[in-house]
Amino acid sequence: MPTLPPPSVESLDEILPQEPLLMMGAGPVPIPHKVAYANSIVINHLGETMNRVIEQVKAMGRYVFQTGSAHVLGVAGPGSAAMEMAIANLVFPGDRVLCVCNGYFSRRMAEMATRVGGEVTVLQVPDFEYALASRVEEALRGGDYKVVTIVQGETSNTVCNRELEQITKLADARGCLAIVDAVCTLSTMPLEMDAWKVDAVITGGQKGLSSIPGVSLLALSEKAWRKIESRRQLMPHWCLDARLADNFWNKKSYHYTAPVSGVLAIHEALRLVVDETLPRRFERHRVCSLALQRGIEAMGLELLVPQAARLNSVIGIKVPAGVSADAVRAHMSRVHRVEISGSFGLEIVRIGQMGEQSRAHNLFRTLHALGSSVQHAGAALDLPAGIAELEKGLSEEALTA
Ligand SMILES: *Cc1c(COP(=O)(O)O)cnc(C)c1O
Repeated sequence: MPTLPPPSVESLDEILPQEPLLMMGAGPVPIPHKVAYANSIVINHLGETMNRVIEQVKAMGRYVFQTGSAHVLGVAGPGSAAMEMAIANLVFPGDRVLCVCNGYFSRRMAEMATRVGGEVTVLQVPDFEYALASRVEEALRGGDYKVVTIVQGETSNTVCNRELEQITKLADARGCLAIVDAVCTLSTMPLEMDAWKVDAVITGGQKGLSSIPGVSLLALSEKAWRKIESRRQLMPHWCLDARLADNFWNKKSYHYTAPVSGVLAIHEALRLVVDETLPRRFERHRVCSLALQRGIEAMGLELLVPQAARLNSVIGIKVPAGVSADAVRAHMSRVHRVEISGSFGLEIVRIGQMGEQSRAHNLFRTLHALGSSVQHAGAALDLPAGIAELEKGLSEEALTA
């Protein structure tokens, strides 16, 4: 007889809303039906079927990352696991690492680099500004750095590092490896791994790619791979050891049981990107995000970040004085069935523009829900003006292509 009695629990029907909420926050984002269906299938993690799936995931991954590298790897885990895999494999103990920090996620890379024994210098970017290539160059001149880490889009405070390309090229010219966090931006805006001389690109499933959370991708350059192969010390992480992962991703052999359903899901998510093509996908994201930003401002709300440094993939919005961001979000969720995000410590709300979020019908529903929830919280807004501007924005922005 077991000693503990069975707990009394509710069924998911009792826990989940009858109709799923529209996920318009900073991730996870809505997934297309084909991705959801693929995620419901279990196949053998080794063998001919899986091999074909893996070959295609890598081929499509190379397109999405814009790289010819043979080292596109998947990882069972969140975007942070792909981040940890990049950093744990590429930062050797004692390596000097320059971490360009704009906010929460770029800080996470600095913390990970410290934990694996890197000697980290943080280059702090002022709030609501992007990292300047000239400042990074100056910092690089000051020390013998081996690795530079930087985020493309800082989801936490909605800043976009506009000079990323110059910065990664600078890092390359100084013999550093450049690690780029593109979790929220990959497939929503340009990032050309090879042309920009990036050595590691990190992404998750649940943001730009519109797949499920929990299976992530990491692309490593040939230069990065040479460093990995030159490692003398034992990798402290077994699951995240890129050389072991290579057995599965490139040598049709076993590392750990791959998250097969999630790999099938990311296969479908990538296939939808390939079908759409990157230029059209970037354009859809740009048009939708800019139109939504115009609608938000026309309604009478203020955006958090000035245009020069503003990220399109996640939009930060100030809530009017005296209004609680949590109350707005709770009302949106309860009454309008639209879920958006708060932020870490800032009195703002954030709306995502990643993957399936960037569809006109989702924008109208979200903008209406936001406006009427802010009004419900007691602030005066011009909701019709916002909706009209969104409509205008969608048609005008599409013309500027
Ligand atoms: C979401 C996010 C992460 C972390 O991804 P998880 O899947 O939550 O681990 C890292 N970097 C950026 C830029 C993100 O947006």
